Amino acid sequence: MEATKSEAKRLEVIRSLFSQYYRSRPPIRVTSLEQREFGYWEFSKPTMVRHLAFRSIDDLLVTLARVAPLHAYRSSAYFTYPSAPMEEKGWLGADLVFDIDADHADPPCGGHHVFRVCTEHGLVEGESCGCGAKTVEVDWVCERCLEGARRELIKLVELLLGEFGVREEDVEVNFSGNRGFHVVVDSSELRDLDQQGRREIVQYLTAEGLAPEAMGFGSVRGRPRRATAGEPELDAYGWRGRIWRRIYARLSTGTDEDVGSALARMRPSEVRRLLDEVVREESVKIDPVVTADVHRLVRLSESLNGKTGLAVRRVPLERLHDFDPFDEAVAIRGRPMRVKVLYSPGFRLGGLEFQEVHGPVVTELPAHAAVYLVLKGLAVLE
Ligand SMILES: [Zn+2]
Ligand SMILES: [Zn+2]
Repeated sequence: MEATKSEAKRLEVIRSLFSQYYRSRPPIRVTSLEQREFGYWEFSKPTMVRHLAFRSIDDLLVTLARVAPLHAYRSSAYFTYPSAPMEEKGWLGADLVFDIDADHADPPCGGHHVFRVCTEHGLVEGESCGCGAKTVEVDWVCERCLEGARRELIKLVELLLGEFGVREEDVEVNFSGNRGFHVVVDSSELRDLDQQGRREIVQYLTAEGLAPEAMGFGSVRGRPRRATAGEPELDAYGWRGRIWRRIYARLSTGTDEDVGSALARMRPSEVRRLLDEVVREESVKIDPVVTADVHRLVRLSESLNGKTGLAVRRVPLERLHDFDPFDEAVAIRGRPMRVKVLYSPGFRLGGLEFQEVHGPVVTELPAHAAVYLVLKGLAVLE
């Protein structure tokens, strides 16, 4: 975020709230902390500070409270010398990382809520306001966006535990603080995996190159093959079982024979379409680039996301279904703040409902909501 002098001065108010958060000693934990590289973006400075190393959580917290960064990261990898230049760090292994973003999760709302606002005139219809003042494009995330991401998250965690044999204690799930979720697996069996191995995991999860025909689904020259005509194999392992269970849920009217005979009556093109849909529903919408990368910087769990002021909140595995990001990730506390709201959709944050605002309107908002809108670009501090 590059800022003019007056903006920088106003952002200092938000930076001090970030500092206050880090001084409250949030429960930041990092496995193999001394072997990780850390990095951050500061408020109002366009370059990233990285290649940092810390000896303990206390050391890390002191720096976070002093700098109060806009964004804070740690490496997915472990290194012999984490603060050395990249080629001299000595790569020892890396966590397996997954990024689930609302944009890729095919949410019921469509997932695209882009607003263009003018700092003088509020919401702009079309490309520009025409007044000459600065316009900002804002990527909004709604509750249903995150429900789409949550659906993918639950699928991913079930697969990791159920089909990859990952131990629950090795899985860390974080709400990203903005548009989705991050899953970090730190297990001794997976940390040595190279890029190719990680790509294969991505291919399995995303069903890239998956051929249901090779598993006996589908038909040959119009005649149903055994798997489509026979009994559903609901207990089959991996993709075969998951495809069967989806098909069963769609077609069953009570007995197993129903499903087999319903499939047998279908035209090959109908079977094909059904299989495509089922595979799409079962595949997990992760960002393939993130998972294949063995040198990733990931958002530090329990740090603040500078795009929202929300915490990168750790989500316990037993809370995946009911964790409420718009309530539980609220981390900024402080006195109400005066802001000029340019435009705001209606939203819910920290147990409060906020109505849609067609600004510019100067108003006083609770600190967490004011910071949320300012960092999103929908309001400016007065
Ligand atoms: Zn304007
Ligand atoms: Zn949405």
